[in-house]
Amino acid sequence: MRSINLIVIHCAATPNGRSMFRSVPGRAVSMTPVEVLDEMHKVRGFARTAGFRARQNPNLTSIGYHFIIYTNGTVATGRHLDEVGAHVQGFNAKSIGICMIGTDEFTVVQWKSLAGLVNALNETYPDARLCGHRDLSPDQNKNGIIEPFEWLKICPGFDVAAWLNNDMEPFPQNVYSPL
Ligand SMILES: [Zn+2]
Repeated sequence: MRSINLIVIHCAATPNGRSMFRSVPGRAVSMTPVEVLDEMHKVRGFARTAGFRARQNPNLTSIGYHFIIYTNGTVATGRHLDEVGAHVQGFNAKSIGICMIGTDEFTVVQWKSLAGLVNALNETYPDARLCGHRDLSPDQNKNGIIEPFEWLKICPGFDVAAWLNNDMEPFPQNVYSPL
């Protein structure tokens, strides 16, 4: 088993509440969000190894994340847990990447799925720290706190530590509600 000390939450930076299923002319079934992300990561030059593709999701050539949580609450898998991801520069070797579809508002079922997944991973990796992508930005003024002006990206669009302290209940401004 790969040694894991970090679980990183991301967002897909896609429109809030949009499922990202994509219909394809001439194809009977839509592309799934994980297939859409896989295509985007292929363009960015990410590539999975043949060995891990044989072990999990052989159709996904590139996806950098280990889990992807859809707006309908589905938890899809990407890379194998023993496979080094491609989701956060400098921290990939010992981390797991989770991606929420959306930007900074996620559906109630997405939030439930995230809590369930994080709890399950905590059982397997009790010593792993949980954080958001932006929390791994460089601490430019070296005060020990990664402040908003230091964020390289806003990903995942919410405060992971505050969500944990709130018993994994999302804050209203991060809950997507269709009008
Ligand atoms: Zn990210």
